[in-house]
Amino acid sequence: MTTQHTALPVTVSIEPGEDIAAYLERVAAANRLSMTDLTGHPRTARLWEDPPDDLLTRLSASTGVPVPRMRDAVLRTALPGAVPERARTGRRYAGRPATCPAGCVDTVAARLNIVVLCLRCGALLVDHDDSHPPPVPDKVRQIHPDVLDSLARARRSSQARGRLRRVESLMAELEPALWGNWPPLADGETTHWRDRIVRWEKWNLEQTGGVIRPPSVTATLLALTWDASATPAGTTDLLDEIAVMADPWDPSEEVLPGWRTLTEAHDGVLDLLDDQQIEPRHIPTILRLTGEPIVLPEHQRTLRVAEALALTILAGRAHGQDLTLNTAVELHGAAASARTRRVVHRVLRSTYALERLAVHATLLHEQGLRDLRRARAELRHLRALPSDALRTLPTAAGGHVDPEQCAAWVWLDATLGRPAGGPHPLPAAEAMVRFDAHLDPETKLHLRAWWQHRLDLAEDLATADAPTQESSTEMGGRDVG
Ligand SMILES: [Zn+2]
Repeated sequence: MTTQHTALPVTVSIEPGEDIAAYLERVAAANRLSMTDLTGHPRTARLWEDPPDDLLTRLSASTGVPVPRMRDAVLRTALPGAVPERARTGRRYAGRPATCPAGCVDTVAARLNIVVLCLRCGALLVDHDDSHPPPVPDKVRQIHPDVLDSLARARRSSQARGRLRRVESLMAELEPALWGNWPPLADGETTHWRDRIVRWEKWNLEQTGGVIRPPSVTATLLALTWDASATPAGTTDLLDEIAVMADPWDPSEEVLPGWRTLTEAHDGVLDLLDDQQIEPRHIPTILRLTGEPIVLPEHQRTLRVAEALALTILAGRAHGQDLTLNTAVELHGAAASARTRRVVHRVLRSTYALERLAVHATLLHEQGLRDLRRARAELRHLRALPSDALRTLPTAAGGHVDPEQCAAWVWLDATLGRPAGGPHPLPAAEAMVRFDAHLDPETKLHLRAWWQHRLDLAEDLATADAPTQESSTEMGGRDVG
């Protein structure tokens, strides 16, 4: 590394809007130096988002560009309202700058994911992971000036900052829907474009866990969310819609009841719940299907919790109880977010959603109904599996299982629900799914026998203790305290 304090032999002028690292790379090349030789840092270093003054002073001496002009070519100064930490609208993933396929200079704005078109020629930017995308949907061209305007105003305008925050949250929520269950095409988006994006996203998810977002992916997410991000109400509406469509479960026509109107569907579900004698106490706090992970992925949770609450309300109605949403939430003993609550109302007002609930109810019935409310009450405080229970576990698991993870597993297995409301309401979902996957079948059977025995004992005690009070069925079904 050399430390030039004197002017370089070849001078290069900095272009309007050009990024400082892109400029310095051109300077280095013109002088037959490497970027690291010239600056002491690689082209992709994050330092170029906000380089220290002494570095700029030194580079100013060698390039002849004044320090304030260099500062203008830095992300922090050029776009001070942008939040680089945001995954979708902030900085691009490390080490992979996006460039114009026509060879225009790299702009400082292009450091941000949210900038998907070349500021000079309007071409869709490309990167190492997606170098030959097809022509970008018209919608992206239509909204691009608006995106740039919000970015430019973000420093002074709280409205512009609010919009950038909303579009980030919408894009984050919409991405899982793109992996499987497609949102409707944006204006001017072709099925060819969408097919390619969905294939790309699936590949990315498998290979990297979904961290790479080339400009074509961001462009798609932006086209689908930018209009809704204009107002908080529009954002809320789309977030609710996304929660519904992000669930990949799509029951086949043969199992759906085929109800035609909302009234028919509502009455149909009530009849079914009555016939199958499904009461509120039989409904878990989340509706998980056989074969699904013991803790559902985050993008599926809102809808499945909302469906569980809706089914609880309907099961009450089917048995002459008028349950409000609040009562259903209390019965589940776990908080429900404002969004989940809104989705409950959506579910209750949709014919298709009620048909799905009928399928859920039938599946619950086929598994055998259990008093889950009692199970929740009994196991809510089980922080760790007792040592006598641990000692009886099969040798395969003996000594290797964590008593707290066992308790969390017992809670999920016995209540068929979600971690919320249980003794370990916030376990890392992946850790729990891994624990479940590695638990051998024999140990699972033992744990299941253990909690069944414990629930039977508790029921015997309750029946023996309370002969003169409410019957145990009533306590299970109605007491919501
Ligand atoms: Zn260009």
